[in-house]
Amino acid sequence: MTTKAVSNSPGNTEQNRPPGGGVLWETLRSLLFIFGTAILTTIAVKNSVNPYLEKIWGASHDFWGSLWVSIYDLFGRNDFLVHVVGSTVHSILCFVVFNALFLVCDITGHPKWLLKYKVQDGKNQPVDNKKLWSCIRTVAFNLGVISPLFTIAFYAPVCYFGAYHKGDLPTFERILLEFLVFNIIEEIFFYYSHRILHHPKFYARFHKKHHEWTAPIGITSVYCGPLEMVLSNLFPAALGPMIMRSHIFVSWFWFGLVLFSTTLAHGGYHVPFLFSPEAHDYHHKVFNCLFGTLGVLDKLHKTDRPFAGSVNEKRHFVSFSLAPVKDIYPEPLKPGHSKAE
Ligand SMILES: [Zn+2]
Ligand SMILES: [Zn+2]
Repeated sequence: MTTKAVSNSPGNTEQNRPPGGGVLWETLRSLLFIFGTAILTTIAVKNSVNPYLEKIWGASHDFWGSLWVSIYDLFGRNDFLVHVVGSTVHSILCFVVFNALFLVCDITGHPKWLLKYKVQDGKNQPVDNKKLWSCIRTVAFNLGVISPLFTIAFYAPVCYFGAYHKGDLPTFERILLEFLVFNIIEEIFFYYSHRILHHPKFYARFHKKHHEWTAPIGITSVYCGPLEMVLSNLFPAALGPMIMRSHIFVSWFWFGLVLFSTTLAHGGYHVPFLFSPEAHDYHHKVFNCLFGTLGVLDKLHKTDRPFAGSVNEKRHFVSFSLAPVKDIYPEPLKPGHSKAE
């Protein structure tokens, strides 16, 4: 990606431009920062909670191990079938399960308790039928055609790197390390591919479709054209397991987590105890900031403005209160308006 691509993003102002040094230096700094943080976090987790988690994982290891063997047998121990058909079925199942409640609420307005957690009040309540069906058609095409084609194309590289299907599941410690690497790779590749898609040369053709929803709903997470689906959604998520030579069962856990977090990010509801959707919802609302998943590269490249300091940023946390975050951090009063009004 070039500096031009960065600075020319729609609405990107001079103040959002990295201060000197260029993108290469910024990227090196970000990699150092991310890897440094990752190593320190790994050591901290390993020395504190890991022994307890390892015990829990050890107790459930047999369950997951035998579940995996059953699935593997179901596919006739055929690695290609497991990789392509298994991964496709798994992704579709996860997508349907994660989206079911949000979609029912978007269409029917029930359950009522969920509505109070709506991020953008009044938007898509109820969702427009025509828009919804158009979205469902694209989503079905992406999950049922583009995703399997990508999985087929990715099979050879994955085998070349040494991903495996047979044999024991890895230790909990190894899974923890793999997930850490997956997250870093996802952040880097999603952030930069997403910024490239916001370049004026590419935006209208490749990314505008995804931004038709300024108040997104869960299923819009994969509402996009085929190029964006591959470049920003599938590739960043699949690269980590390939590099780490992960067991496919571990990859499925990771893909499930990615689908879960992107569903929440687009869901339009800030539900207690779950990941916050505030940042990506804000990206859909204003277009020109917050391109990453973890927020690290946004901070580094200063693309977290104008989100930084806004009421939406204050609301951007995992809430452990049943009160909606918008009640905890209400919209600031407009000048000239008092509380009594
Ligand atoms: Zn975007
Ligand atoms: Zn989005």
